[in-house]
Amino acid sequence: MTPSSWLDDFPLRMVELDRAHLRRRRAVVTPDGGARLKVDGRSMLAFCSNDYLGLSTHPDLVRAACAGAQAFGVGSGGSPLVSGHSAANEALESELAAFVGLPRALYFYAGFAANVGIVPALVGAGDAIFSDALNHACLIDGARLSRARIHRFAHADLPALERELAHSSARRKLVMTDAVFSMDGDCADIAGLLALCERHDALLLLDDAHGFGVRGPQGRGSLAEAGLFGAAASRRVLYMATLSKAAGAAGAFVAGDSALVEWLLQKTRSYIFATAAPAMLASALSASLRRIAQDEWRRTHLCRLVGRLRSGLAAGLQGSGWQLGASQTAIQPLLIGRNDAALAAMAGLRARGIWVPAIRPPTVPEGTARLRIALSAAHTEADVDQLIEALTALARESVDALAANA
Ligand SMILES: *Cc1c(COP(=O)(O)O)cnc(C)c1O
Repeated sequence: MTPSSWLDDFPLRMVELDRAHLRRRRAVVTPDGGARLKVDGRSMLAFCSNDYLGLSTHPDLVRAACAGAQAFGVGSGGSPLVSGHSAANEALESELAAFVGLPRALYFYAGFAANVGIVPALVGAGDAIFSDALNHACLIDGARLSRARIHRFAHADLPALERELAHSSARRKLVMTDAVFSMDGDCADIAGLLALCERHDALLLLDDAHGFGVRGPQGRGSLAEAGLFGAAASRRVLYMATLSKAAGAAGAFVAGDSALVEWLLQKTRSYIFATAAPAMLASALSASLRRIAQDEWRRTHLCRLVGRLRSGLAAGLQGSGWQLGASQTAIQPLLIGRNDAALAAMAGLRARGIWVPAIRPPTVPEGTARLRIALSAAHTEADVDQLIEALTALARESVDALAANA
């Protein structure tokens, strides 16, 4: 008998994933008006999109993308350092820097690529990274690629961070954190983190993927919310945000001190060795920045929906063991615990025409599988009421099932 090849293992490994309820499946979706999606052909009320302001289908953005495609074509043709840096991308960078009140911005084709690239450009072997335990995967991967020593501190535990900083003898220290945590919706204490960075000569990298567009005056993001804007900005903060969430399109940017951003332009491999984002996206994003700044009603409405969901669920979840996380943002995690229970809850909602994704490890820690409810300005109050009603019914069923098994 010939020895088996490791290539034969994949089907067996897939069975293991199935058994642990960790197999992931993609749904095929099409926009279906408002916050509705056609999911595998069926119209569903969706609470799964990071399009927090409902801008991804806005006519202004669509028109701008079309005009950009007319003017520039649909491809950029090369790396920004060769021939891909279009006039539209150049203009967008100035607009982004002004929008977040920082000296200079660098525009990337994706947020994941931005973080994976900028961390190794900032620190390397012999340096130290201090990383919140719940940071996004791309910050973690960027840290690993850098070969700097990684100190992981317990989520939001500033005293623990301070101890680690004090013990480190590295000359270059980088503290990195999500500004709004992607699976929990809670917010980092930016003023507290910055004070520690000042004291220990560290640089603070803030990933504001979920704050840009929704937090701060005119949606200018979590730094602006913390008052670190314009003349009050600190050169110790490197700000990163994605343009794929509230901004409704795709891409990302980093912004901060001019010398620092110039360094990133020189050294970030995911910037240098990747094709620039197509100019049509930059055109759409310029239109998006105008809508973000002007449409205060989108943030007001979203904020009202968050309050409505939280107060509406307060009574309905009692005794179920299900619990809403302590979030005031559009990300409202409903913690369930077991992977199979989270999947069952997702299926229960799906049967009622509602689409909320179950999030399981390794995206979240073991034993904290959850429904990640994402609200958007595209939702109506009636949409949120429908979700509250369905979740209350499912929570009741799970209480009844627990009682029957006891
Ligand atoms: C989505 C996300 C990213 C990645 O951004 P993309 O533009 O989707 O590649 C990075 N950081 C956080 C916190 C995110 O949620």
